[in-house]
Amino acid sequence: MSKLTDLGVAELRDGFRGGNFTAREVAEAFNAVVAGASALNAFITTTPEHALAAADEADNARAAGGDLKPLAGIPIGMKDLFATRGTRTTAGSHILEGFTPPYESTVSGKLWDAGAGMLGKLNMDQFAMGSSNETSSFGPVISPWRARHESGERSNTDLVPGGSSGGTSAAIAARLCPAATGTDTGGSIRQPASFTGISGIKPTYGRCSRYGIVGFASSLDQAGPMARSVRDCAIMLEAMAGFDPKDSTSIDAPVLPWEAGLNASMKGKRVGIPKEYRVDNMPPEIEALWEQGIAWFRDAGAEIVDVSLPHTHYSLPVYYVIAPAEASSNLARYDGVRYGLRDLPDGANLQDMYAATRKAGFGWEVKRRLLIGTYVLSAGFYDAYYTKAQRVRTLIAQDFDKAWEQCDVLLTPTTPSAAFAPGAQSADPIAMYLNDVFTVPASLAGLPAMSVPAGLSSAGLPLGLQIIGKALDEQSVFNAALALEQRAAFTARPEKWW
Ligand code: GLN
Repeated sequence: MSKLTDLGVAELRDGFRGGNFTAREVAEAFNAVVAGASALNAFITTTPEHALAAADEADNARAAGGDLKPLAGIPIGMKDLFATRGTRTTAGSHILEGFTPPYESTVSGKLWDAGAGMLGKLNMDQFAMGSSNETSSFGPVISPWRARHESGERSNTDLVPGGSSGGTSAAIAARLCPAATGTDTGGSIRQPASFTGISGIKPTYGRCSRYGIVGFASSLDQAGPMARSVRDCAIMLEAMAGFDPKDSTSIDAPVLPWEAGLNASMKGKRVGIPKEYRVDNMPPEIEALWEQGIAWFRDAGAEIVDVSLPHTHYSLPVYYVIAPAEASSNLARYDGVRYGLRDLPDGANLQDMYAATRKAGFGWEVKRRLLIGTYVLSAGFYDAYYTKAQRVRTLIAQDFDKAWEQCDVLLTPTTPSAAFAPGAQSADPIAMYLNDVFTVPASLAGLPAMSVPAGLSSAGLPLGLQIIGKALDEQSVFNAALALEQRAAFTARPEKWW
């Protein structure tokens, strides 16, 4: 039975349809491994009964011989940023304590409508702010991966799973679920995917509805799937995407048959290599992986072209003005009146209650961002910081527009390093923010971008490559990612220690 948990989305779907196992067997197998993996702290809430109910529905539909829903028989994980009706939703923060949404996010609702069941709500950095899953009020997530010493022996030191979708990445890499949702504001799908040897796509901004996703930086937030293969991500995205009138920035474009359109041939395609991504002090093994990716694309028949994205250098500073600014506005709603926590000291007036609630409810990283965001939006500094950052954001987007005259997709590393130990970067916010140096530009431009596992570091830890595509051209991103996936033939997986 435990073997069922090694299967991915397509294998589970096809095996269930072919009568090899029941959906209930699948749900029970995953519920059991989730229950046995508390050492990873990947789940904030488990919902075994939800997974079983969906499984029984799938089994009944199969027995009745009717049409099966696309995700019938597939249990998945849900990042705890998606509001789930009747199941507590925390955004990884103490300030939402006691909050059980009376409504369902559009993306999670679409996944349930497609037949998927929910194994639980996945841990994450608080309000999706972070790159290591250390800012959660529910404790850090531990990666299932362990480094190897030079002797080949496995280290016992913990590693971070990346963030903010760190519960998602850890759970999928540890085979606790075949796929799960993530969200990506500046890299939170791609960076944790890279750190844990799995795949993840941030679709074009507006592809997936933001309705019911706890807001961080609304002009950047985008949901997307994480899984262990390109095909599984395509299957998931087909269920998650689609126009939603409840989200004013949702794009009214048809959801395409991405899985059916998968094609790994790169003949006639041009792959751009942006020279500005050769950052100072890039570790040689990241550079070598990038070169390897270029060689794989040549092998797949692509033409490689050098391109320039001259404003890349400004991406992180621009992101760390715009994202905190939007966060300071979005998070103003947590005031002890409407949702979650209320700290009402004796004799306190309304202002005191706001202050006490926010002091007790938000973690340090969230407070840092709220201070920065409030500052850059304040009357005296708005033009100097916020308006200027918006202007530079436009220049960054225009860089990509120009690059598309020369190429169809871009190839870059996903992250400047492999996973690190908890605590290694948390004292220095700038070091932590540098994790997103390669992922933030596509976020600012609203473009689809995907990470696929491409190799191992010298310490035996996963490293990803990133494909960035044109707006709404997820198909080219998937296809290029598939070409890499086939050549990288990444089969490494963490050895169970938890
Ligand atoms: N690590 C980045 C940050 O801390 C990105 C987070 C995200 O994409 N949600 O803001």
